[in-house]
Amino acid sequence: ALPVLAIVGRPNVGKSTLVNRIIGKRLAVVEDTPGVTRDRVAYRAEWAGRDFTLLDTGGWEKNVTGIDLSVAQAAEAAIDMADAIVFVVDAMVGATATDEQVVRLLRKADKPVVLAANKVDGPQGELEAAALWNLGLGEPIAVSALHGRGTGDLLDAAMAVL
Ligand code: GDP
Ligand code: MG
Repeated sequence: ALPVLAIVGRPNVGKSTLVNRIIGKRLAVVEDTPGVTRDRVAYRAEWAGRDFTLLDTGGWEKNVTGIDLSVAQAAEAAIDMADAIVFVVDAMVGATATDEQVVRLLRKADKPVVLAANKVDGPQGELEAAALWNLGLGEPIAVSALHGRGTGDLLDAAMAVL
């Protein structure tokens, strides 16, 4: 079986946009508003001559009580299946309590993690990206899933640990 790279993060950080960027197609559903339940979706992907399975993870159920719990459950299931993880954070928002929750899951899993500081659409976002060093997951790689900025560097880093 191919190695599995899971894209993990709370809703609306740009996971599906990143998946579409990586596979070069618009297959993953991008939501303008968080709150739509989606299952994990697996795609066949390739970078630098390596084939792998790319796992997009879903959102939450907006009407249930434990929003954070269901984010954690989605993340946990994906982390479980993964050989390596891209943890996506919205650099423009900064680290939230939910992000910190996912960080705890990632630490527990003890699998290789690459930290994507997303929505850095231009050089003015680099400072916000650097602030994510505070998560303790190593270097935040500034990317714009929407425009493609930095995504090559992110994939290089992911392939190095996959
Ligand atoms: P997901 O819930 O984590 O899968 O997030 P989505 O991929 O559905 O994206 C949520 C919203 O963020 C959408 O409106 C995207 O267009 C937007 N978005 C995603 N990546 C970027 C980015 O790099 N820059 C900007 N400005 N917006 C982004
Ligand atoms: Mg999505």
